[in-house]
Amino acid sequence: MYATVLQYLEETAERFPDKAAFADMAETYTFRELADLAGKAGSAIAKRVGPREPVMVYMDKKAYNVPVFLGAAYAGCFYVPVDDQMPAERVKLILDTLQPGLIIYDDAAEGRLEEIGGQVGRMHYKEAFQAEIDEARLHAIRQNAKNTDLLYVLFTSGSTGVPKGVTISHGAVIDFMEWICDKYRLDETAALCNQAPFYFDASVPDLYIPLKTGATVYIPPKSYYTFPKKVLQFIEQKEINTLIWVPSALCNVVNCRAFDVCVPGTVRLVIFCGEVMPCRHLNVWRKNIPKALFVNMYGPTEATYACMYYNIDREFADDEKLPLGRACENSGILLLGEDDRAVEDGEIGEICILGQCLSNGYYNAADRTRAVFVQNPVNTRWTEYLYRTGDLAYRDAAGNMVFAGRKDFQIKRLGHRIELGEIENAMLAVAEIENACCIFHDAREEIIAVYTGRIGTDEVNGRLGARLPQYMLPGRYVRLDAMPMNLNGKIDRARLKQEYAEETTWTD
Ligand code: AMP
Repeated sequence: MYATVLQYLEETAERFPDKAAFADMAETYTFRELADLAGKAGSAIAKRVGPREPVMVYMDKKAYNVPVFLGAAYAGCFYVPVDDQMPAERVKLILDTLQPGLIIYDDAAEGRLEEIGGQVGRMHYKEAFQAEIDEARLHAIRQNAKNTDLLYVLFTSGSTGVPKGVTISHGAVIDFMEWICDKYRLDETAALCNQAPFYFDASVPDLYIPLKTGATVYIPPKSYYTFPKKVLQFIEQKEINTLIWVPSALCNVVNCRAFDVCVPGTVRLVIFCGEVMPCRHLNVWRKNIPKALFVNMYGPTEATYACMYYNIDREFADDEKLPLGRACENSGILLLGEDDRAVEDGEIGEICILGQCLSNGYYNAADRTRAVFVQNPVNTRWTEYLYRTGDLAYRDAAGNMVFAGRKDFQIKRLGHRIELGEIENAMLAVAEIENACCIFHDAREEIIAVYTGRIGTDEVNGRLGARLPQYMLPGRYVRLDAMPMNLNGKIDRARLKQEYAEETTWTD
């Protein structure tokens, strides 16, 4: 039984001391070096802050983040990653909620420290890496460590505009790592290519699979994802066999025709999670890398990374929906109807998650926590929390869950209930459309379809007319050169809504 992820690190550093753990373009850390630097950083942090306190890590996405994160854990604290590219206003909001004991920064973030203000103590990461390891202090901290202690807090965008800090314990990460490594036989031969920023839960497998197994994670420059031909060449050059990315990043490879330049033959496992993966784009990946297993995972930050999975085991038509599949063996899923009862098969209900993967709630936000982490209404006999996701799904005839959009993306028009994702799905099946997002203008009861691609708006309407009933056809189309993306690399729906579907901004 593992109490903390540090046990993973120490065991793996014993087994594979000289194997590369994390490598970016400038530096490679072996497991021995990682353990050593994490111990030094832990000793430096422990001198400045007591256990159970947040340590904000304000740095560019580089390999040196990892020993700092683990250093926070050695100090009995929890880390909160904040990217140097994050807007200062957002960082300030996070600071307000967090009131961290210490900010650890790098050269990239140093110039922005004044901008975010505050009286918080600061330390350059290089100073932390130069500290002497204080064995006695670290040992004393470790004696009190429990697997319910927080490992990190990730801030996600809240609907009120105030970011929510999702707390995750060591136990939740360990539980997920045991599941994913066992399920997909991940071991020291795995080589991963990190895509997601560290402040986003999509990077959690990249950070902890190496610790548990001895695998290696390569961190290419962020700019490679804008020019995906480079990322494919990087994958080939480093002989990467495992990709854990968000669908948008996979789609970008297809939209930029990157496979025309390079098909990395080493890839054997592609896991994606975080948004709908359009089948047309998936099919291009499957055609180019037929030996790989592709997996659709589902999960919010509040469930560590994923709580449902579907191994793609058959062909899917370009306009079909990929199922979310079944609950991961360490989690439970309930679909609750409006009356808080479990829905019948085929009926749509809200996805509610149970299990050790669950967050301990939002940091410093008891009301927001109470609103969504609630007693399982189907169990009146003992305390059992579940997390209400706000996502909708139904169970198909084969027993797989199928995503039916978010509660707040479901609209009523002309008396029909319409899931905007259905229209997006039909748009993405049109070969010339690269990216699509539908928003609803509430006052005008009008669906607005925003897309990128090599096709005019009239033609899109004609093609959709062949696939969708009249009442689902958008009333207006907006073609953009580039789709706005949020910090997590997903389509920025809020911004599109504000720009095109709010009374004050829309003019004919
Ligand atoms: P995040 O907390 O940023 O990881 O976002 C979680 C949300 O992403 C979920 O509540 C879903 O709305 C969406 N999501 C995650 N995985 C999938 C998936 N496989 N298919 C569709 N939507 C997904």
